[in-house]
Amino acid sequence: MTQKVFYQGEIVDESSVSISIRSKAFNYGLACFEGIRAYWDDEEEQLYGFCMKEHYDRLLESCKCLNMKIPYTSEELCDYTVELLKANNCKTTTYIRPIVYKGAETLKPSLMEMDDRIIIYTQPLDSYSGKDELRVAVSSWRRISDTSLPPRTKATAGYLNSALAGLEVISKGYDEAIFLTNAGFVCEGPGENIFFVKNDKLITPPPSDDILEGITRALVMKLAKEELGMEVVERSVARTELYNSQEVFFSGTAMEVTAVVEADDRRIGTGHEGEVCRKLKEIFAKVGVGKIDKYKYLTIPVW
Ligand code: PMP
Repeated sequence: MTQKVFYQGEIVDESSVSISIRSKAFNYGLACFEGIRAYWDDEEEQLYGFCMKEHYDRLLESCKCLNMKIPYTSEELCDYTVELLKANNCKTTTYIRPIVYKGAETLKPSLMEMDDRIIIYTQPLDSYSGKDELRVAVSSWRRISDTSLPPRTKATAGYLNSALAGLEVISKGYDEAIFLTNAGFVCEGPGENIFFVKNDKLITPPPSDDILEGITRALVMKLAKEELGMEVVERSVARTELYNSQEVFFSGTAMEVTAVVEADDRRIGTGHEGEVCRKLKEIFAKVGVGKIDKYKYLTIPVW
């Protein structure tokens, strides 16, 4: 069955959509996107769109920064996404990728022409890394900054920075890269935020350190406070703290909550997934399929 996509207000066959080789999105990376998950619950035979509203709110904020306009509200985009998941008969955990892009075909790398388009496509996605325990290395590529290519806008062009870091460290056998900011603080992974457990506090770099303010990050902070009673601190983190923390873990829509057990060939904590990460993963898995009443508002049933 050919896959359906949402394109410019309609659910259509993926094969019917074509993007011009002259579009600014293709030529200059003038586009922004989101990554959303819908979790399949075997017990209930139900698919739950997860944090969809939060992701579409962020997409609309990105559009505002990049002078892109689409005529839909977050709520409408959530409704279209449910329609799309149904059209694709999604009955497994699924990744949802909305992209807003400059379709204009003029030569300049300009954000001024208002020929903006939106595509949403879906694909099955179970585990992103395929591993429960990751070995990472700090990349020699520094993170793009809000002063030049704002990570907050989730611009497709910014993912060249992510891809360069991945090329450097994954080709050497590590599972994922870690970025430092230009000032040398630990920032995030190429597609995930980072957390540290030190003296039983949960620490994560602040928005001012050029991170993407992850939707999963916000939820992990909330769960750590409310469900584990932990103190959560947003502050700049030095590179050496990466080596000397009790635990380190990633958070992200694709990556979910995943332990980092080695950094730059140094073992972190016990060298295995820690207690805090394990507990948060367990709670997160329940929240994803609407099993905890308090967080049910984050899920939208599809079927
Ligand atoms: N940082 C970067 C650079 C990312 O691409 C992502 C994935 N969207 C994240 C962090 C995690 O954000 P979220 O939890 O919203 O998926």
